[in-house]
Amino acid sequence: MPIDPDPFDGERLKEACGVVGIVAPGTNAVYPCYDALYALQHRGQESAGMAAFNDQQITVVKDNGLVSHVFTDSTLRALPGAFVIGHTRYSTSGSANWTAAQPVFRSAEGAVFAIAHNGNLTNTVALADEAGIAVTSMLSDSDLVAELLARAVDRGASVAEALQEVLARAEGAFSMVILESTGRIHAVRDPHGFRPLCLGQLGSAEEPEGWVVASETPALDVIGATFLREILPGEMVTLTDIGVTSTQLLEPASDKQDLCIFEFVYFARPDSYLMGHQVHTSRRRMGELLAGQSLVDADLVMGVPDSGVPAAEGFAKASGIPFGYGLVKNRYIGRTFISPDQAKRAQSVRRKLNPLRENIEGQRLVVVDDSIVRGTTTQALVRMLRDAGAAQVHLRISSPPFMWPCYFGIDTPTRSELLAANHTVQEMNDYIGSDTLEFITLENLRAAIGLSGECCDACLTGNYPAPVPVAIAAGGRW
Ligand code: SF4
Repeated sequence: MPIDPDPFDGERLKEACGVVGIVAPGTNAVYPCYDALYALQHRGQESAGMAAFNDQQITVVKDNGLVSHVFTDSTLRALPGAFVIGHTRYSTSGSANWTAAQPVFRSAEGAVFAIAHNGNLTNTVALADEAGIAVTSMLSDSDLVAELLARAVDRGASVAEALQEVLARAEGAFSMVILESTGRIHAVRDPHGFRPLCLGQLGSAEEPEGWVVASETPALDVIGATFLREILPGEMVTLTDIGVTSTQLLEPASDKQDLCIFEFVYFARPDSYLMGHQVHTSRRRMGELLAGQSLVDADLVMGVPDSGVPAAEGFAKASGIPFGYGLVKNRYIGRTFISPDQAKRAQSVRRKLNPLRENIEGQRLVVVDDSIVRGTTTQALVRMLRDAGAAQVHLRISSPPFMWPCYFGIDTPTRSELLAANHTVQEMNDYIGSDTLEFITLENLRAAIGLSGECCDACLTGNYPAPVPVAIAAGGRW
């Protein structure tokens, strides 16, 4: 049976996968990798996997489900190794079947390796065509990269040389970790830096005990690793048992990064640091600046869990309207089976969120959320708050209108399904049923993050920093 995004989240943007790589000489790095993957669970709940090298062979364990479901005590015991990579997946490309779970394993002439990938390539069809591969025979864009790497290795290249050859032709988003059976882990970030990737160290500066790469800094925190720096666009770092080396594998696309602006708004954990900025602080600031855009007369400011809450706190602080909780989130909902029609989606809001009636009844509410995609969930949310007795619902959104699809690793509806692409703000307000609706401006969003024009904001502006794939654009997926 096909696995569907959680029906509540099926209306929302989907995270883009999390990756981890750990080299911890003389120890079993599988347990810290498990903890690091746990810290990255929010980036993908569809499948999880690890590949471990124990000086003799690479063993891969992966399956559909949450990290805690895929890895039991016995699977972890079967996976010893001082060199480990891991992955949590949401399928933005290819099949959601467990066979497409990562890491992807390949055995080539002279090298055995496994890769884990966060992001989406945008020229998969061209890459496959060039190599004479039927794109439909590949499970995902990551599977295609693994196949192209294996072919290059078969021709005599080292894995590092194969990465340079293959990734130089790849377009789109990739933050990728590659474990090879020579006892190396490579971590590569695409020339735009669409998806985050950071480097940390185990032990102390004087006595390092190992090295870690991960999608987000909380994965370092949870295993006691010290954050060293972010991997730069186009850079490859190689972790071995004697240290870390860096190579500028690919020319950076420009002198700025194109890190996804929605990492700050929604995807990343609030305790993550991205480009030197703590995400929680940026979200609070979004709320503060949103409050400054226009006056609203209300009794209570509340956030839609989770990422709407810090923005609501910021809104309350700047507006002087008291902050309170109006929604309780059920945190134990994992992946659920398909319920595609709109009515079920609307109903499913109640599975995840329940109103706190006594806080809401008779109140004029400011409700802060992070984004509106199709609008059906927001409409159901507003209806639920009114049913719980809200006197007024003033919606404030901490991202500008989402008008263009993403091709860089986030699963978004087609343009025709995006509410903001086809309606004015007033029409959206009427459809959703709120009393007023306002979005943060792009200028204020950038100011809240503390970066001016350094992030990708293509889904808000239509200014794509990399070519958009025509074939994918037509069909949504390849
Ligand atoms: S298009 Fe939007 S969602 Fe996609 S990478 Fe750019 S900012 Fe992020």
